[in-house]
Amino acid sequence: MHTKLSVTGIKTAQTQKAESILRSCVHCGFCLSTCPTYQLTGNESDSPRGRIYLIKSVLENNEFSKNTIHHLDRCLTCRACETTCPSGVKYGELADIGRKVIEGKRPLWQKALRMSVRKLLTTPSIVNIGAPFVKHAPIQTPSVQQNGTKGRVLLLSGCVQPVFTPNTNHATTNVLATLGYEIVETTEKECCGAVDHHLSAQGEALIKVKRNIDQWLTMLKSGVDTIISTASGCGLMVKDYPTLFEAGDVYYQKALSVAAQTKDIAEFLLEQDLSLLTVANEKISYHAPCSLQHGQKLPNLVEGLLEKLGYELTPVIDSHLCCGSAGTYSLFQPEMARQLRDNKLNNLSRSQPDLIVTSNIGCQIHLAKGTKLPVKHWIELLDN
Ligand code: SF4
Ligand code: SF4
Repeated sequence: MHTKLSVTGIKTAQTQKAESILRSCVHCGFCLSTCPTYQLTGNESDSPRGRIYLIKSVLENNEFSKNTIHHLDRCLTCRACETTCPSGVKYGELADIGRKVIEGKRPLWQKALRMSVRKLLTTPSIVNIGAPFVKHAPIQTPSVQQNGTKGRVLLLSGCVQPVFTPNTNHATTNVLATLGYEIVETTEKECCGAVDHHLSAQGEALIKVKRNIDQWLTMLKSGVDTIISTASGCGLMVKDYPTLFEAGDVYYQKALSVAAQTKDIAEFLLEQDLSLLTVANEKISYHAPCSLQHGQKLPNLVEGLLEKLGYELTPVIDSHLCCGSAGTYSLFQPEMARQLRDNKLNNLSRSQPDLIVTSNIGCQIHLAKGTKLPVKHWIELLDN
C-alpha cells in the first residue's frame, strides 16, 4: 500500500511504524473472511482492510468523520486478521496508533464515558462493590500444601480476577503447589495496564506498565523463575510490553526481559510432569480466547494440554472467532457483543457438553451471562 504520512500529533517513531505496517498490506482481502465484525455486517468499513484504509486516511490526510470513529470502535482488536494475513500485517499495532490519533477528536461525552469505565475497572475498591452483581465462581477447594521445592513462580493475580472469579487463582495456586512450586502473588492493585491501553489512555497505561516492570524484575532477580498469567488478555498485554517502548528507551530492554519470562499457565504446565494431577470425567467444550490464539499466537495450546491430560474435547465450529467480550468491548458495543456471544454459545453447546471452559476472565464472565451451563477457567478442572 503506497503511503505518505503527514499528520502531526504522533511521534516520529510511531509514524514510521504506521507507515511500514500500511506498506505491508497488499489489499488481498484474505482477512475479510475471518473478521467477526465483517461477518456480521458485510460492510467493508467493518473489515480489517476497510479499517486499514480508514486509519491511512486519518494518518495521511487527517481525514476522519463520525464514521471513522464508529467503524474503528466496532473493531474487537481480536487480531484474527493477523492470523489470516499472508503478508504479516501487524493490524493490532496499527489500530493502537490510529486510535491514539482519533482519541483527541472524540466528542466530550465519549471521552468522559471512557474515562469513567477505565477508572471503575482499575480501582479495586469500586470493583469490590460491583462483585455481588456479576456471576462469579467462589473458592471451591481447600488450600494444598506445597509438595517439594521445584522452583518459585510469580502469579499475576489480575485486578478484577481476585474479586469476580477468585477460584481461578486459588486453583492455579493449588495445582502449582501440588507440582512443587512456591507461589508469589502480585497484589490486587497491580493492573497490567490493558484497560487503559485499549481505551487509548497510553500515558496512564505506561505508569502502570513501568511500575510492574520494575517490581517484577526485582522479583526475577531475587529467585522467581517465571511469571505466570492465568488471564490470556493480561498475559498478552505483558508479552506486548516491548511494543510500547522505542528501542532506545531504557524500559525497552527491561520490557523484553519481563516478556520473555512470562508464560500462560498452560505453556508452563506443558513443560511439567503432570502425573500427580487427577482428571474428572466431564464432557467439556473449550472456548479459545482471541488473546491466546491470535494475540499470543498460541493456537491449540490449551486444547493440546487438556487432551494430553485425558480430556475429550467436543469439536467447536468457528473456534477462531471472537466471543464478543474483547476487554471493554461488550460495554461499549453491547449489540454486536451479544450477537457474537450467542453465535459462540450455539457453537460451544452443539455437542451438549457438561460445562464450558476458557482461559480468560473476560470471556468467562461474558459467556456465563448467556448460558445456563457452568463456564469456568480450565485450570479449575485440575484442582479436585
Ligand atoms: S490479508 Fe493482510 S495484506 Fe491482505 S488485505 Fe488483509 S491485512 Fe491487507
Ligand atoms: S482485529 Fe478482529 S474485529 Fe478488528 S479488524 Fe481484525 S479481525 Fe476484524
